[in-house]
Amino acid sequence: METWAGNDVIAEIGALAPKEVIALTSAAVETVADLLDRVPKRYEDRRRFDAFPTQASTEAVCLRGTVVDAGRRFFGGRKGVYEVVIQAGNEVGFGENSITCRWFNAPYISKILAVGHEIILYGKPKDVNGKLVVDHPEFEVIKDGEQSRESVHVERIVPVYKNISGIAQRRLREIVFLLLEGMNADSVNGEFSVDESYPRIDAYREVHFPKEMEQVEAARRYFALEEFVRLQLEVARRRKKYHQQKGRMQAQKMHLLTEFYQSLPFDLTDAQKRCVKEIIHDMRSSLPMNRMLQGDVGSGKTFVALCAALLAIDSGAQVALMAPTQILAEQHYLTFRQWLDPLEVRVGLTTSDREEQGEMSWSKKPQIVIGTHALLYGENTFDDLGLVIIDEQHKFGVEQRGRLVRKGVMPDVLVMTATPIPRTLTLTIYGDLDVSVIDELPKGRGKIITGVRPKAKVSDVTKFLKEKLSEGRQAYIVYPLVEESESLKAGAASVEHEKWQKRLGAYEVSLVHGKMSADEKEQVMKDFRENSSQVLVSTSVIEVGVDVPNASVMVIYDAERFGLSQLHQLRGRIGRGEHKSYCILVTNAKNPEALEKLQVLADTIDGFKISEADLKMRGPGDVLGTDQSGLADMRFIEYLADVDLIREARRLAEEILNNEQ
Ligand code: ADP
Ligand code: MG
Repeated sequence: METWAGNDVIAEIGALAPKEVIALTSAAVETVADLLDRVPKRYEDRRRFDAFPTQASTEAVCLRGTVVDAGRRFFGGRKGVYEVVIQAGNEVGFGENSITCRWFNAPYISKILAVGHEIILYGKPKDVNGKLVVDHPEFEVIKDGEQSRESVHVERIVPVYKNISGIAQRRLREIVFLLLEGMNADSVNGEFSVDESYPRIDAYREVHFPKEMEQVEAARRYFALEEFVRLQLEVARRRKKYHQQKGRMQAQKMHLLTEFYQSLPFDLTDAQKRCVKEIIHDMRSSLPMNRMLQGDVGSGKTFVALCAALLAIDSGAQVALMAPTQILAEQHYLTFRQWLDPLEVRVGLTTSDREEQGEMSWSKKPQIVIGTHALLYGENTFDDLGLVIIDEQHKFGVEQRGRLVRKGVMPDVLVMTATPIPRTLTLTIYGDLDVSVIDELPKGRGKIITGVRPKAKVSDVTKFLKEKLSEGRQAYIVYPLVEESESLKAGAASVEHEKWQKRLGAYEVSLVHGKMSADEKEQVMKDFRENSSQVLVSTSVIEVGVDVPNASVMVIYDAERFGLSQLHQLRGRIGRGEHKSYCILVTNAKNPEALEKLQVLADTIDGFKISEADLKMRGPGDVLGTDQSGLADMRFIEYLADVDLIREARRLAEEILNNEQ
């Protein structure tokens, strides 16, 4: 028998047909290890199958049987459907235990499935006019008269892989089986070992062809641990490299900070003060600051950022603040000018649509420039960039962050996020950042009441809105329209806007959406801030940053279409003043997951809990964006929630690093 090593190139394995090699390499499977690293997406226990169902169910069943009837049926002469009747057991004959499978518009099925074939099928049975039917099941022919390695496919737990186009599931399984059989055990050892008592080859064998399902968990954990150790090593090396660089010693002078502090009409919360202290400590140190400021929406991150900015400016350096959207950049620009104009600090704005320099009278460059991505492309903005602040940092890629940082010479870096990041993530993918958390909201905030309203009547919503508007409050009405293009969204929101203007005739209803020019958007937001309009109809462009304390009602239509964290961000636009606030989540969804998701919001306003629920429901990739370093390529992302595993990975990584020195 031939033996294989992990680094053997797929193309050189004689047992594979050339077209199989092409299919594998196009799926980025170039070596034996690449293929073995593709762990199964699920398993079927083919030592025993489910009994043929007698009624519809929402759970998939796995059945083994024989095709006893097959043929095309036609409805109304147009669309064809291929129907196959499967009978339990392996004898041809009609009996009680049968089920019908249907494929619509899939003519190729008739070429691979015929009477007499023994198959295994997987799918959800439903009731169609009294007949049990599975539409488009996953299936596999296990006996079609030809020679095949039956021992691979039946009488055992078999792996089911994510499809590789051009290779049948069954063939893929055979290839993996073949490679594992001829595996040279020593050649698959990794660069480090996460468990001396568990040979890596065994982990491969057990993850692909487990004898018992318990083996799968152990093997997956093995590979997950490997992946996390690798991630930890990368993060630790990055951190070390960063700390070997010489940073700036800023924040020696505190004049501006003191003056600013005295001008504030409120005291900073204890949490804000603690974060400012941590920042001062970092900025004074000769190591470059690399800190993440976490705080729920409305917790007052902007004021901590203002303090950091003043410390850098007092040291004679410039500051850049980058925000993900124009509206947010404009909002920050206004806030910064409100507090910094009196201190005669020069504030500028750079977005792709607009460039502004605060009080136009200065002849010198701005000391702080606030902007969007456009900041990355400006030339000559900075002579001496000493502090980089990035808001909603998960909206930016690592590369963009780096690009802004490189505009200075080892500037201090502060990234801010309103998505509370669970500890397991700050220990892994964000492990190179120090973390400050604002875990307290400013006092005197009005309570937010959230309700989920299936199919809310327009007249009820209108009545409620009128009541709150008559009390002097303002309101947001948000439409997601996520599936549609930006221009369709804009169109649909415009239609809704007109309707609302009619319904709420006595009040001014304005509209903001992504297709408007920057000036138009800014004008609308200004009107709303100044209460010249009382209702703002929008797409999700107001997601972050908008700060209008008098707005106390938010109605979100088709709320189920937003992610949990996004809804939380949206809701964070209300409850900013002393007024009791109301968030109404309107949905027509019936599926339990959607309703459960919305219920999370009704039950809590704690961003941390919401973020954890979101991670559980959608996974870290979707919650944090796949731009995050390393996240996109992770195979065992679900273990990010496993604190024990992450601790173990850290311990192993430290051990490896210590041995390196
Ligand atoms: P974030 O950026 O974290 O969402 P902001 O910095 O925009 O929050 O602050 C939200 C609101 O709370 C603003 O209206 C701000 O003026 C107010 N605010 C911030 N800190 C305090 C504080 N310590 N006391 C009272 N109000 C505060
Ligand atoms: Mg903010």
